[in-house]
Amino acid sequence: MKVKGNKSPYDGDWTYWASRIGKHPRVRKEVATLLKRQKNQCAHCGLTCQPTDLIDVEHIVPKSQGGDDTLKNKQVLHRHGHESQIAEDIKAASH
Ligand SMILES: [Zn+2]
Repeated sequence: MKVKGNKSPYDGDWTYWASRIGKHPRVRKEVATLLKRQKNQCAHCGLTCQPTDLIDVEHIVPKSQGGDDTLKNKQVLHRHGHESQIAEDIKAASH
């Protein structure tokens, strides 16, 4: 099945997508839950996360700053490979 543009074929069908990736061996249940909450958007770039993308889980408030380990304090984003940049963006976004 070909997908045109960057529109996900699963847009608007969250249950299906989450249950699908929930069975994916590389995707933890936590990630599926967070993706669903974020409507499948990467917290860093705002683009749709695809099942083939590498996804990271980040603490919104770093543990070193008193953040806890609950889902409330977590968000998912693509593995962009710029850890410090991501940290800066999260800091900026919270202001
Ligand atoms: Zn991204």
